[in-house]
Amino acid sequence: MSNLPGKHWGVDIGGTTTILGYLANDGFKTVSTLQTIPSEGPEKLLTQIRRTISNIDDSPGTIGVGIAGLVDRENGILIHSPNLINWGRFPLQERLTDIFRCPAVIDNDCNTFAIQAIDSGEIPSDGLSLLITLGTGIGGTIIHNGTILYGTGYAGEFGHMTVNVSGEACPCGSRGCWERYAAAEALVRYFKRTGSDLKDADPRKIAQLAEAGNENALKAFEEFGEWVGVGLANLSHCLSPSEIFLAGGLVKTFSLFIEHARHEFHRRCLYKWNVSALSSCSDAGAEGAAIMGRALSL
Ligand SMILES: [Zn+2]
Repeated sequence: MSNLPGKHWGVDIGGTTTILGYLANDGFKTVSTLQTIPSEGPEKLLTQIRRTISNIDDSPGTIGVGIAGLVDRENGILIHSPNLINWGRFPLQERLTDIFRCPAVIDNDCNTFAIQAIDSGEIPSDGLSLLITLGTGIGGTIIHNGTILYGTGYAGEFGHMTVNVSGEACPCGSRGCWERYAAAEALVRYFKRTGSDLKDADPRKIAQLAEAGNENALKAFEEFGEWVGVGLANLSHCLSPSEIFLAGGLVKTFSLFIEHARHEFHRRCLYKWNVSALSSCSDAGAEGAAIMGRALSL
């Protein structure tokens, strides 16, 4: 591949895969999907990213990174990630600048996802909207008039809103966090509780069973949907958003849980229900990170 320097690169570091690419004239080009191996630590992954980028661009213009976890944007530090154990307090932005010799910026992965959705017009540029990603955990972003609201830096951690005071323990150190009830592990837990003897149950298999009418799987999605509705009602009471967008791996099962979520929402909240699934590609987070990086050069 020819070496054309000065591109705006975007990287989305998830708990299992890392996607990287750059902004081309005709859209975002995904260059590589790397395996994230959390136990190997960040430096090995950075070496793989450097090798991949330097094959195409020996002088990157900017680099933006979205990463699953709590990010100190001001100082460019990953503070904590439940999926990237032992990466805590890693000075990611400084390391990127050292390695690539270009401006670098990092943010939480839900926020970079939101940047792409705002840029593409999927999230409106007026009013107050919420983006919620349902997957391994729950990510959140508050968007007001096309701008992400950060508060003192960390707004949108909806997954760690308490929904059950003495509930399930969470890796964040708290108990009863929403993501212990409305993310992937919870769906599997509800399914197992129905007494199913399915081996290696995961959300994909449970969804397949539910679509085929399996009572246990349908019951699991009912309970899951109710907990989704609990959280959406809480957020609506706090923020009264005009629209709520759901994304993330579990949004593929939207039709299996959303009516239960809606029912629970209306039991708890008088506000209008305006919740929809966001159709985005798997590389949207990386594209948003590249857009975020490009802004450094403008
Ligand atoms: Zn938590």
